[in-house]
Amino acid sequence: MAQQRPLPELDVDFLQENALTSVRLGIEDFQRCRLDPGSGGDPARALSAVRNLFAGILLLFKFKIAISVADPCDAASLIFNPPDIQPQADGAGGVEWTPVGRFKPTTIDVATIKKRFDGFNIEVNWEVINKLQTCRNHLEHLHPANTLGEVADFVAELFPILRDFIQTQLNEQPADLLGAAWQAMLEHHNFFVDTRAVCEAAWAEAGVPPRMLPWLEKCQCERCSSSLIRPPQDLLDGGASVEYQDETFTYLCLACGHADLIVPVMMKMLDKSHEYDPRNGEEASVEQCFECNRGTFVIAEQHCLWCEAELDYDRCSLCEEPLRQEDQHNDGLCGYHAHTYEKYMRD
Ligand SMILES: [Zn+2]
Ligand SMILES: [Zn+2]
Ligand SMILES: [Zn+2]
Repeated sequence: MAQQRPLPELDVDFLQENALTSVRLGIEDFQRCRLDPGSGGDPARALSAVRNLFAGILLLFKFKIAISVADPCDAASLIFNPPDIQPQADGAGGVEWTPVGRFKPTTIDVATIKKRFDGFNIEVNWEVINKLQTCRNHLEHLHPANTLGEVADFVAELFPILRDFIQTQLNEQPADLLGAAWQAMLEHHNFFVDTRAVCEAAWAEAGVPPRMLPWLEKCQCERCSSSLIRPPQDLLDGGASVEYQDETFTYLCLACGHADLIVPVMMKMLDKSHEYDPRNGEEASVEQCFECNRGTFVIAEQHCLWCEAELDYDRCSLCEEPLRQEDQHNDGLCGYHAHTYEKYMRD
């Protein structure tokens, strides 16, 4: 089929060269966006760093798809967008599905690259790629200074993906293909991993309620969106804990130096994952805890993430319906059965 329909020309070497150039440019932009404005730094380069890196990775993926088949015609048919398949009457009361028109001059998008990878058993960590795509879209709408830390996180996260892909899928060494850009990425990645380990070790000393830890892990600096935040050493030395000094406990961002309260950020992360829309008939899944007054009581789990308060009565003794905090004064009955019982006693 592909042979009968003229395909746009595909130059595989050019595809690879383009991919590597985009990645190199992305890293250069990344380095520029982090320098002081005094020494030639430019925060606006964060956006082109992410755009270039994203484009470079997608080109590298397309290159891999193209070299997975022996025939250059097949390669082009995998990379360019195929003609639409339309149903036609076969003249005998049946339907035939046939390609209409030619292959398009445009190349496949992320969703189609995923499908090609599935078809050719090529594995890649899509979670990070999706995050990079989200970051790119998000950067288009924000002031770059607000996301410098986030961009730095992504460059670090991208490092192992790029390394594994180049080594296992392209059978090359990243340093050979990317030169100085690779060295810069490696150093940044090592710095990031070491710094994150320091942050994690420091939080482990900070008396965070254990059930709140998943929300702490999602926290980012409110100024630059970096995940490299830690408790200040003087708070740890003074024996302060997030659990009991929640109104004063701060974080320090190791990427931009910003300091602010940590608990409101943790609460924001918790609320975000429990978002609901009353217009769709959805109900809140967390509520104010009767014991500690924080908005950390998970209704379905019947416990508080902050103070670990639990219910005395978790189910109605008559109908087994799960009970809530406000049912506790009914001695183990749900609102309906408590009301019925009360009425029975009265009559
Ligand atoms: Zn920051
Ligand atoms: Zn509580
Ligand atoms: Zn009941």
